Amino acid sequence: MKRTLLEIVLVLSLAAAGYFGWTNLQKGKLATAEIAAIQTKVDVAEELLKDSEKEVETAENALDALEETLDPLKEKALELDAVKAAIANGPLLQDVESLYKKDKKLSVERQLSLGALRMLVNGSDDPSATDAFNKALQMADWGSRKNSICAAQIGLAAAGQKVKVMSECAVQPPGSEAIASHGDPKAHGAAPAASAHSSPAGDKAHGKDVKTADAHAAPHWGYEGAMGPDKWGKEFPTCGKGQSQSPLNIKSPFVKGRISVTADYKAGPLRMLNNGHTIQVNVTPGSKLRIDGVPHDLLQFHFHRPSEEHIDGKPSAMVIHFVHKNAAGKLAVLGVLLKEGNENPGIKTLWANAPAAEGPEVVLDDVSFNPGNLLPREFDFFSYEGSLTTPPCTEGVRFFILKTPVNISREQISGFPFKMNARPVQPQNGRMITSG
Ligand SMILES: [Zn+2]
Repeated sequence: MKRTLLEIVLVLSLAAAGYFGWTNLQKGKLATAEIAAIQTKVDVAEELLKDSEKEVETAENALDALEETLDPLKEKALELDAVKAAIANGPLLQDVESLYKKDKKLSVERQLSLGALRMLVNGSDDPSATDAFNKALQMADWGSRKNSICAAQIGLAAAGQKVKVMSECAVQPPGSEAIASHGDPKAHGAAPAASAHSSPAGDKAHGKDVKTADAHAAPHWGYEGAMGPDKWGKEFPTCGKGQSQSPLNIKSPFVKGRISVTADYKAGPLRMLNNGHTIQVNVTPGSKLRIDGVPHDLLQFHFHRPSEEHIDGKPSAMVIHFVHKNAAGKLAVLGVLLKEGNENPGIKTLWANAPAAEGPEVVLDDVSFNPGNLLPREFDFFSYEGSLTTPPCTEGVRFFILKTPVNISREQISGFPFKMNARPVQPQNGRMITSG
């Protein structure tokens, strides 16, 4: 278009020159000046044309670059199409649904698979897919919590539901991993967000698993301020509306209890992580808590400072929560209160290896740890029905709080990398507390 305009301008200028040349010989000088002026205009027009050609070239390059980045995504879309096509006929979903029908209560993981299959077969607006993801989210517990919550939240978001996907669930693009691991054990006083990137060689020497994670994602719930416990209910309704929430202030009157509880914990390689809310030790299968003879597998244990449970209105320096699950999926938490006193040898081992900053699990194959070392000899306890004390605050969790505390030194208390990670005590709402 611009080229055509230029040609017209040129033709006009030549015509003008001719006109002036032939008919206005007297005004020759003037005509020359007019032609020079027109020539200048033509030059400017040509420059403009060159500039716009450059712009087109830049735009074309940008388009090429965009196509290159789209190629891997196209591949992923093709893979997903292949999976969808393979199961679109439905028999797989029917098989799974009839298989799962026999189970009265599906595990979180099975609810998630059911949601995923329904979404693949019936599309993202299938309400039964949303239903399965919702159930999984409600049931997600301490044992498998983060992965399950992420899967359920991503599933619901994909189904167009208004759900906030936790920042921790962000999918890392391949190749973007940074090596992160435990921090300097001496650095425990540091804030949880402090960087604890250490040399890979040092980690290898300790036989640690140095897989990755970005510890800088913003937490979406916490213990203070805009993300504090009184705001948890916005994103996790049970935390706000639940009627059997933990922790409790344990005070009389008590009901005489006849429940027998025994711990049979075994030593195993130390696997621990800083999940941004606490230090958690994941336990190798084999350790059990027997409640009236029914075995409950010890999944993990973790710490709160100060203790979440109060006894007669007073918290202890800290508490350890040992989290168990039985074959029916029922959770049981054994609480061991820590009071300031002598150094605790078990905690010494843990603190020496605990990651000071948030990150993935570290496995210390060369450190054997028996959680039984953290228990008092006496096993009298208070007991009540409660909930997880962190989002999603799932209810149906039996608590056993041992009456006898164990010691922890003042240095060990300050060595715990969280200054305050205790949910306030919750209304008892008529719940009985047994004393046994
Ligand atoms: Zn806890």
